[in-house]
Amino acid sequence: MKLRSENMDLKAYMLRKYPGILRYANSDRMVLKRLRKTVSYATKSDLYRNKLKQAGVVPGRIRSLQDFKRMVPTTTREEIVKAGPYGMLAVRPGEKCLIYSQTSGTTGGHVPLWVTKDEIERSVGLATSLPVFQNLMSSSDIVALCYPYTRTLAGRMADMINQRRGATIIPMGTRNNMYPPEEVVDTILRLRPTILGSVATDAFSYANILMDRGIDPTSLGIKLIVSGAEPLSSNRAKVLGKVFGCKALSLLGQNEVGVAIPCEHNVLHLPSFAMFTEVYNDDGTEAAPGERGYSVVTPTWREAQPILRYVTGDVIRLHEDPCPCGLPLPTMEILGRKITQLRIGGRKYFPIELEDILYRSYINGPWYKMVLESGGLHVSIEHRGKDRDRTMEEVSANLKKELGTDVTVEILPPGSLYDYKGVRPGKALSRIVDRTSGKDQLIEGA
Ligand SMILES: [Zn+2]
Repeated sequence: MKLRSENMDLKAYMLRKYPGILRYANSDRMVLKRLRKTVSYATKSDLYRNKLKQAGVVPGRIRSLQDFKRMVPTTTREEIVKAGPYGMLAVRPGEKCLIYSQTSGTTGGHVPLWVTKDEIERSVGLATSLPVFQNLMSSSDIVALCYPYTRTLAGRMADMINQRRGATIIPMGTRNNMYPPEEVVDTILRLRPTILGSVATDAFSYANILMDRGIDPTSLGIKLIVSGAEPLSSNRAKVLGKVFGCKALSLLGQNEVGVAIPCEHNVLHLPSFAMFTEVYNDDGTEAAPGERGYSVVTPTWREAQPILRYVTGDVIRLHEDPCPCGLPLPTMEILGRKITQLRIGGRKYFPIELEDILYRSYINGPWYKMVLESGGLHVSIEHRGKDRDRTMEEVSANLKKELGTDVTVEILPPGSLYDYKGVRPGKALSRIVDRTSGKDQLIEGA
């Protein structure tokens, strides 16, 4: 039988063949059914066995989505860290094959992220069924993978997705000792991949190493870049695509609860068939559709590590309007952690919004830095090109117009702010510094 021989999960098969099924899968009745099952399953872990008992939650009494929101308590990052690496597990080591990963720990301790082998294989089946991968990738592709292979599952998952597609894979990892950036570039030049999976900053770095050697990145024949593990604004993705002469997509998720689904229009879709998302205002009331708010997420497909109503710390915005790609799933903007917001003039901005304004101009360099002071915003940009004065004026005018504050801009040669030939330092680097609030703001992932 075809289904079995392809080892494809039924849901993935249905999604590939009949994407309209998602409308049915996301009906309130189906969502409620999944949530009840998830709550019941969660009691297998030490954390939820105690937590749900204390809160008096009985899955059978959850009769509506409102009941779920009212009865089930939220889960915080601190609780997970406190529960310890085994406290969240619903499957004990030895029962099933388990794979461990964890968050970077830059904000208050490492959060464990467990999956079972079966779970990861189902996710891979699902990913390969998505239109974006069906339409943009084929078995004849040669894929250079520069995502991290350790600590996170990014590299491992990308490997498995490409294996399932039957593509040719060059696993390199991200700026490590085995493949420092220049070695990655050498390998790209020798093997000529058609797809590059890479953190956007790394892709800009490889482009600059190529140009140091007098090679135009658009001559390589790369047709697609999939950036992950780092926030990438829509305009910066467009510029990256222009640097390589290809399409560039951003694959990003919310902290600890899973990735969003990109589409060919570089729009992120919420995988609502696999996670239930609530959006709240600061005062605890539910945000209206289309309004920004902080997200509380319950993944409903988890096997190893169930999690209920997780307060992600991310501010998101969901839109119900149909996306031109036709995928019947809400679209989502992930704006970033609330604590990274900056107040400029009378408005608050997320770093990714400032980046998007910056990259209305063509800026070809691996790094930029913005420092907000009481006198205004100072922007340093690495940029390679003869049009330095014009770029400087354009960036300055765009930011001034949008922010209504004094802006100074300096253009620096690539390498001035960030060592794009070096292996990655072990800590996150700051792109945005807010001296008006006295704290550094981080916008780096990976
Ligand atoms: Zn779309």
